[in-house]
Amino acid sequence: MDEELNPFKNAQKQIDRCADVLNLDEATRAFLREPMRTLIVSIPVRMDNGSFRVFTGFRVQYNDALGPTKGGIRWHPEENLDTVKALAAWMTWKCALLDLPYGGGKGGVVCDPKKMSTGEKERLARAYVRALGGFLGPLKDIPAPDVYTDPQIMSWMMDEYSAIAGYNVPEVITGKLHITGGSKGREDATARGGMFVLREAAKHLGFSLKVEEERLYKPPKELSSLPDVLTKSGDAVTVAIQGYGNAGSLAHLLATRLFRNVRVIAVSDSRGGVLNEDGLPYTKVKRVKDETGSVINYGSSKKISNEEVLELPVDILIPAALENQITKRNADRIKARIVLELANGPTTPEADEILHRKKVFVVPDFLANAGGVTVSYFEWVQNLSRYYWDYEEVYRRLDAKMTKAFWEVVEALKEFKDKDIDPRTAAYVVAVRRVVEAMKARGWV
Ligand code: NAD
Repeated sequence: MDEELNPFKNAQKQIDRCADVLNLDEATRAFLREPMRTLIVSIPVRMDNGSFRVFTGFRVQYNDALGPTKGGIRWHPEENLDTVKALAAWMTWKCALLDLPYGGGKGGVVCDPKKMSTGEKERLARAYVRALGGFLGPLKDIPAPDVYTDPQIMSWMMDEYSAIAGYNVPEVITGKLHITGGSKGREDATARGGMFVLREAAKHLGFSLKVEEERLYKPPKELSSLPDVLTKSGDAVTVAIQGYGNAGSLAHLLATRLFRNVRVIAVSDSRGGVLNEDGLPYTKVKRVKDETGSVINYGSSKKISNEEVLELPVDILIPAALENQITKRNADRIKARIVLELANGPTTPEADEILHRKKVFVVPDFLANAGGVTVSYFEWVQNLSRYYWDYEEVYRRLDAKMTKAFWEVVEALKEFKDKDIDPRTAAYVVAVRRVVEAMKARGWV
């Protein structure tokens, strides 16, 4: 793997940069650079044709100084330990930044869920929980959905864990189906949290997003039933979105429903992108994506490549696909004023430096997409108390958490103005300080 594209090496570079800013001692640095615990498991699963297949699974508990580890489980054919370790590190900083009582973890299974039947997926989900054994637990390590895993898979995993425990343990996993204890608002929490931060970032940079206040805390179903209105005003805030899965498509919905003056002009998925300067209607693009499998089949637009989507002259660029999309090769051609990283790790450290020089404001992944884990935390709290909140309560609390975290990052930017740090490093400063304070208070280093 190209060194620039190794996510764990990048996560370590980011920690090093922050450790320099905070002047951390050697032992603390060493502890922060590696996970506390890593488990690799072989998972035999009976396939529909009667044969057995052995899948490789991972679970990394990166750092639990602030509380039990928390993080998603990804099912991906190219899953590997370095990616899981990087994502577990980022979860640590994300939970700390949002001031959640959690450490960071992550899991993954090397598999291609698109080629598996429902029964095979259920057996893999249950076998993964059994393989991890005592590694998981509601006060130890609490998984959630991530790339190619979903609420149904979480509900099977919760059921397997509960069957082993002998009683219902909904709090062992979050992002479950509602009927099994999933929180309201979890389905669009990542994109919704991103929109709350985007509103604050725009405020900070001096261009305003006109908020539809009465819609701010409405559920996605209600918002998607509203008609598409393509803002005509010449001073519309323009947006391009890379990736049209859960995070990207909901970002399209929310950006156009929560803000009056936003125009989403380009979107893309793995097959390419579409552009229409007059705006792309969410309802129609989503229908085309659902019916044909790709946004590129949306007619009233110009086809463009994935590269071009990133390089458009828009106000806001939202990477919502995979890691390593903005690198030293294309960073100089990014024209957006704000990059809102809904995806994990879309920008490499080399690209970060270039964007900072160009004065592009990057809202780092572990702030921009922290809405998911924040509502996961709310789900865990509701599960533990067996008392459930409505949408408005969930979104209001999410807004408060995201907004607070954003302005703490701005404060850190001011505090280290003389070191000219970028927003990612500032977010690291806020998060790492909390983790280090807990490590020192516990007597670890
Ligand atoms: P998803 O699988 O639902 O969607 C991914 C999308 O990216 C798909 O539309 C796919 O076609 C597209 N894609 C893949 N390769 C691409 C490429 N080269 N160019 C353009 N598009 C491409 O996944 P998701 O849940 O939406 O997650 C997307 C990103 O957001 C990931 O990095 C994930 O870790 C991050 N994230 C998601 C959540 C969440 O709650 N869903 C939370 C935190 C972070």
